[in-house]
Amino acid sequence: MVIGCVDSRVSPEVIFDAAPGELLVARNVANLVPAYEPPSTPEQDISHQHGTSAALEFAVRALRVQHIVVLGHAFCGGIKAFASDDAPLSSSDFIGRWMRQIEPAAEAIGPRADEGEEGYLRKLEFASVELSLRNLMTFPFVRKAVEAGGLTLHGAYFGVASGRLLVRNERGVFEPVSG
Ligand SMILES: [Zn+2]
Repeated sequence: MVIGCVDSRVSPEVIFDAAPGELLVARNVANLVPAYEPPSTPEQDISHQHGTSAALEFAVRALRVQHIVVLGHAFCGGIKAFASDDAPLSSSDFIGRWMRQIEPAAEAIGPRADEGEEGYLRKLEFASVELSLRNLMTFPFVRKAVEAGGLTLHGAYFGVASGRLLVRNERGVFEPVSG
């Protein structure tokens, strides 16, 4: 399973050279995995719709995928929207509300230093992949499958300008794919 961004430049099937039937792909703004949030009241059941969580449930519980890749990317508009104070695109501000879930990633990397705007955005893109990997483990069925050895979680990052794919190693460092 690949969890990717809706950005048209970051097509998982193209990046991984996959044929139909090979990848289960869930795409959303900024390739985010929300934290596990079961509905606790009937009202919540209606007001909270969990498209990504439903795809995750299907992939892990029904298809029993063995790998989940959170695929981040450079120049992500969702990440930029979060980091800048742009006005909402509509009064419902779906993007703003969706992106606010990466606040823990922003807190993890701290305030902007002297890396400049672009440098800060790149850091936040990597940090949001880390956050999604952590959020994946908040799903009981994901944690259970990982701990049983049947599922492995991966982070990856596509440089849309460079065409380079980076893969997160076991130390949490994103490295170019070899070969
Ligand atoms: Zn994006």
